Amino acid sequence: MGGFFGIASKEEAGCDLFYGTDYHSHLGTKRGGIAVHRPAGFLRVIHNIENDQFRSKFDADMSTLNGKTGIGVISDTDDQPLLIRSHLGDYALVTVGAVKNTDELVKRSFEKQRLHFSEMSGGGVSPTELVAALINQGESFEAGIVNAQEAVQGSCSLLLLTNRGGIYAARDKWGRTPVVLGRRDGATAVAMESCSFPNLGFTTEKYLGPGEIVFITAEGYEQKSQPRDRLQICAFLWVYYGYPASSYEGINVEWVRNRCGAFLARRNPLQLDFVAGIPDSGIGHGLGYAAEAGLPFKRPFVKYTPTWARSFMPQNQDQRDLVARMKLIPIQELIEGKKFLFCEDSIVRGTQLKDTIQRLYDFGALEVHMRPACPPLVYSCKFLNFSISRSEFDLAARRAIRELEGDHPGDLKPYATFGTEPYETMEEKIRRRLNLTTLKYQRLDDLVAAIGLPKDSVCTYCWDGSEPGE
Ligand code: SF4
Repeated sequence: MGGFFGIASKEEAGCDLFYGTDYHSHLGTKRGGIAVHRPAGFLRVIHNIENDQFRSKFDADMSTLNGKTGIGVISDTDDQPLLIRSHLGDYALVTVGAVKNTDELVKRSFEKQRLHFSEMSGGGVSPTELVAALINQGESFEAGIVNAQEAVQGSCSLLLLTNRGGIYAARDKWGRTPVVLGRRDGATAVAMESCSFPNLGFTTEKYLGPGEIVFITAEGYEQKSQPRDRLQICAFLWVYYGYPASSYEGINVEWVRNRCGAFLARRNPLQLDFVAGIPDSGIGHGLGYAAEAGLPFKRPFVKYTPTWARSFMPQNQDQRDLVARMKLIPIQELIEGKKFLFCEDSIVRGTQLKDTIQRLYDFGALEVHMRPACPPLVYSCKFLNFSISRSEFDLAARRAIRELEGDHPGDLKPYATFGTEPYETMEEKIRRRLNLTTLKYQRLDDLVAAIGLPKDSVCTYCWDGSEPGE
């Protein structure tokens, strides 16, 4: 998916920019980048973070990041920030989201404006370069950003650092990704993760609305474009992607995860020895379940954190599975002879989970129950780069549907609807494949209630296929 951080300050801000960007490391695994504004021009640094952490890659650059205003990004797609020379002036740009109509926009640019785009090393056009081309069509930065928001299908939130030293911050027109402003004396910050604020001395000032554009300086912010009416924030941010200490729309991630667990506990009471959560994101759901059920919370698996960063994510699936296995160390004394329940954020492919569950039986577990905090994933995300390396047919639910209906299933809706016969059959098939004692997915209405926003304000496409139309 990716994340960004920006700061405009009356004092030197390089250190804050470094740590503020670093607090978005869990959102992407490919590239990290920073640009700072200086009177002589922009200073930009980009590093490959595929096999290393942002902090260690940028450590040596810290002393050179001198400037009072800057933007940083963790990207899952392209090298960023881009430095652009345009009729609007020089600027640096970072984007987060997924441009799904790239081919159409590129073709239109060729035909109408005779523009050209450079080829990225892995092939294709850089989405950030494409968004810059759309911005440059405007008569002002505001008009250009609105043009980009209108043209992009999928999602696009961005930070644009001007050569005057201020930053334009714009949230995706459907608000699928969050953008939040923070203030402290003499500085304004903008981030996707509000967890980047407290340790840098910022307090949350404002959550941008869908499509809203603001211009930030050290003195504060000025609204440049009003928020739109319709919000479709990604519900997966609360379930899995977001950091527990962050809040979106004023709703904290850990608080929602605790509530997700509590809803799961209320639906299917069980006699158990204890409750657990698959680290890291299953922990908050598991704690909520245990508290609601009045059961102890234990850690039959601990995560080996000293060397495995969460951001470390090999591109190869076999290597990913190996890393996932090496990170989790079972504790036989807690597992042997016990009946317990795991909360998990979601079941995506289920292959690694199957191995994890088998290891619990190998270590003497009597019963292993599973409660994913969201419904079965039936549709692959088409708005963010959430499932960039995953085919829809790899999803555990789709594999089960394929086994039931063959390669060309008819209507998927019954499988995406809690309580129908196809839904129950699919759930049972997944339970059997994972060799679980019981498996009960979260109901979508419970997930939405746990978040606390109206159903039509959150994107739930990957579970029920619903979308309000582009
Ligand atoms: S489809 Fe799923 S992952 Fe994608 S934006 Fe919607 S809720 Fe988020």
